[in-house]
Amino acid sequence: MDVSAQYDVIVVGGGPAGSTVSTLVRKRGHRVLQLEKETFPRYQIGESLLPSTVHGIAHLLGVSDELKKAAFTIKHGGTFKWGANPEPWTFDFAVSRRMPGATGYAYQVERMKFDQILLDNARRHGVEVRENSDVLDVLKAEDGRVRGVRYRDSEGREHEVGSRFVVDASGNTGGLYKKSGAKREYSPFFRNLALFGYFNGGKRLPKPNSGNIFTCTFEHGWFWYIPLSPELTSVGAVVNRDSASLVQGDPEKAMESFIAACPLIAEKLSEATRVTEGPYGELRVRKDWSYSNTKFWAPGMALVGDAACFVDPVFSSGVHLATYSGLLAARSLNSCLDGSVDETSAFEEFEARYRLEYGRFYEFLVGFYDMHHSEDSYFWQARKISNTADSDLQSFVELIGGVSSDEFADTARARQRFSEASDEMAGMTHTAAGDADGPHGAVPGKVVGRLMEQSAALQARALLGDEAGAERPVRQGGLAASTDGLGWVPGARS
Ligand code: FAD
Repeated sequence: MDVSAQYDVIVVGGGPAGSTVSTLVRKRGHRVLQLEKETFPRYQIGESLLPSTVHGIAHLLGVSDELKKAAFTIKHGGTFKWGANPEPWTFDFAVSRRMPGATGYAYQVERMKFDQILLDNARRHGVEVRENSDVLDVLKAEDGRVRGVRYRDSEGREHEVGSRFVVDASGNTGGLYKKSGAKREYSPFFRNLALFGYFNGGKRLPKPNSGNIFTCTFEHGWFWYIPLSPELTSVGAVVNRDSASLVQGDPEKAMESFIAACPLIAEKLSEATRVTEGPYGELRVRKDWSYSNTKFWAPGMALVGDAACFVDPVFSSGVHLATYSGLLAARSLNSCLDGSVDETSAFEEFEARYRLEYGRFYEFLVGFYDMHHSEDSYFWQARKISNTADSDLQSFVELIGGVSSDEFADTARARQRFSEASDEMAGMTHTAAGDADGPHGAVPGKVVGRLMEQSAALQARALLGDEAGAERPVRQGGLAASTDGLGWVPGARS
């Protein structure tokens, strides 16, 4: 057995949660091993992203340009045939003051490409990534603390590797989370089943909404219709438990009958053909029951992404929660590894923020599934849950854009400061190198220009440092994010 290699952190899983935490810990110089069972690119569902991932986490990870180059479909918002209104209604992320201008959109992504970009980025940052490596168990010290993993490589050899922390980012199918002592509690409310496949030649909504996710209810549940490219559309029917028997047996027939029962989807697919070959060629079935674990960490171990919790996919929150929890876990790991915060405080902060964000989506979705309301009533509910001074519509868009947490408000404030700094600098005479100092004394003009162009909220916070102002802790006595966004500091205000 190979027990000689020692790491600060071992991350299990190469999905968005795993690659976020591995990269952000590595960015602080720690030794990180990331183990992925499959060989990438591998198929995964979860293709409709939120602005928080595209404009917050992606910038922090340093993959914004690559995402741009990948030319994913731009998603300005969502179009819903849902609730009491018989007509489809549309929301646009750009109405939010927290997602101004260039940050008011997200992407629809082929996960094979998106997850590959994130995993390659982790490698580029110095994370040791091993694919085809199936983690079989976690290792524990005599006192019960997690101290590493046992995994099987592509040749069937087993290895034991030690580390100071293990992060379980293995998604919804693994059982590693049990080693933390956590139990999985399933929601009695969201117990659906999804049947999904891919079509070429599906119609698009009229511009400017052609990249939107289209969501449409029908007698058994609801459909998603996600334009992945000009040709390719991801189409899925989410049906409730009572209709699940219709899917069993012949998924082809079930899909045809569901489409026929939903005239708006049938019309969009009237000239389309289902993809029947390659990774998109099969109809897949997933139970998408929502769950949350009783705890998200134990000494030496943290759970992120679907390994910790999952909530109904209607608002495309999965990748947001996965990457956001990856960021939170990275802050806790970095703070423990550099000795600035004790493990209990660091991981209690991680779990509190993660539960708060998960809870916001969960609570809102319970009300959203009540079909008797109009969209105005859903917008009002979002404001009640987010507890903001924004308008109902803004609260709704911020909640489902993944930016309603206060830390995004703080980064928006930082961006605003950034914007003012940039405007003030616009008329200044730059040095030959273009490095005139900004009004706050230390911000090079060309750097400001580049970051403004990218609308990088989190980078703005990192660059402005103390100028961005201290982050507000999200709970009494809690910790605040450090100015580079990668660690915790004791809260400045509570
Ligand atoms: P994953 O993406 O599942 O990655 C986990 C990785 O760990 C995998 O690569 C796996 O191979 C690896 N792994 C597993 N076990 C081991 C092991 N033992 N050793 C090593 N590696 C291992 N989310 C959205 O944001 N938008 C959507 O539109 C959306 N639609 C959805 C529709 C449905 C029907 C469902 C069920 C989910 C949807 N989601 C959506 C949710 C989304 O799929 C997940 O939330 C997201 O993929 C979670 O990311 P993750 O990194 O936690 O896990």
